[in-house]
Amino acid sequence: MPLRKKRNQVHWLTGQFCDAGSESMYRRSIQESVRLEFSFSLSVATLVFGMFSISDYYLLGLTRKFYLLLTMRIVVVSLCLFVAFLVRYGRGRFYRAWLHALPLWILATGIILIIPLRPESLSTQITAVVVATMAFYLLIPNLLTVVVFASLYLNIGFLVAAVLFTEIAPITALRIALLLIMGIVVGFFALLRLESLQRKQYALLFEERDQNHQLHNEIAHRKALEEQLRVVAERDALTNLNNRGHFMKLAKALLQRSQSEKMPFSLFMIDVDHFKSINDTWGHSYGDWVLTKIAKVCAESLRPSDVIGRFGGEEFVVALPNTNPNDAQIIAECLKKKVAELPLKEEMSELSPSVTIGVAATNSDGVDLDSLITRADQMLYAGKRGGRNQVVVCRDGIKEGEGRGAFNLTQ
Ligand code: GH3
Ligand code: MG
Ligand code: MG
Repeated sequence: MPLRKKRNQVHWLTGQFCDAGSESMYRRSIQESVRLEFSFSLSVATLVFGMFSISDYYLLGLTRKFYLLLTMRIVVVSLCLFVAFLVRYGRGRFYRAWLHALPLWILATGIILIIPLRPESLSTQITAVVVATMAFYLLIPNLLTVVVFASLYLNIGFLVAAVLFTEIAPITALRIALLLIMGIVVGFFALLRLESLQRKQYALLFEERDQNHQLHNEIAHRKALEEQLRVVAERDALTNLNNRGHFMKLAKALLQRSQSEKMPFSLFMIDVDHFKSINDTWGHSYGDWVLTKIAKVCAESLRPSDVIGRFGGEEFVVALPNTNPNDAQIIAECLKKKVAELPLKEEMSELSPSVTIGVAATNSDGVDLDSLITRADQMLYAGKRGGRNQVVVCRDGIKEGEGRGAFNLTQ
């Protein structure tokens, strides 16, 4: 049997969950409503019990027996009201099965005591006992087992008192017993049905909540996976910059926008100088470390509107929307400076990292991203040929005199 089904199984005789954990969880969930319903039902039941003093008075007058009965009723009513008060206002400390059962025993004792005090009222008391038994089962929310014992105590006690204090024939005693048994059986099965139905309903609700929770977890997990997939599809694993494909997508959109707004657009092609010798001298993992440091410093030196990506190997590419070649050159120089000042590991003290940056700029409609990259690449190689560690700017359609690059290749 699956674990969940086993946990939600209800016992056929007690109407409770077979699993102790499920049972205590269920009881905790109904604790608040039981507290209110119990104290209300108990108060009403005891007040009705107390009101029978009026009939006592009419039957007995102000006799000794009446006073005894009155005292007994006052004691029962006060005790039960006190318990009702404790359960209602005593908070969690007073939620105990035995405390809920206590008034049943007090009321039962009160009803039994009426027989020796008023034996002539036996016939009406039989009805009272049957009604009280039903009330025990149906009105006062309690545990089936607890109610069974309390109602057995009431019914057996009543029968014994009837036999001892009234002169009834054995056959009458038997008829009373059968009547009482009927009350007990009907009450028992009614409460058994109620208890087990309530628990089954609770189990279903709990199962639904559980499934909802699982669904939420599943959705959160899928979202996390989607995010991971997106990162894998868009990011470079080593440097965490945009990968080439994603960069191209973003840069194309930026270029188009700049062109439609008639704004200049610049592009950097950055290449780490003599990177192979870093790998050769300190090993590949050190090379990776330097590469991530350079990627980080480049990304941090850019403006929020700029987009950077790893183009491949030790080459990075940057799209700078709404940027003329002069500003692009300033940014590139700043970036080059920051790379040169990069703090390195102790064992790499003799290394002075540098980058060469090729810059291409445009403010005309007819230029596409690929041709801009090609031009920036040409500038980059011009810079390499020119001795590395420098910024080389190419302008397309930008007025002469704006450029401050080492090379000024206009088409
Ligand atoms: P130059 O100044 O002309 O650019 O010289 P270079 O040594 O930087 O250029 P070259 O193209 O000769 O070598 C690039 C090296 O970068 C070769 C390759 O092993 C290394 N490289 C490419 N990608 C990675 C990487 O992800 N990690 C490491 N550690 N090395 C890489
Ligand atoms: Mg290279
Ligand atoms: Mg290189």
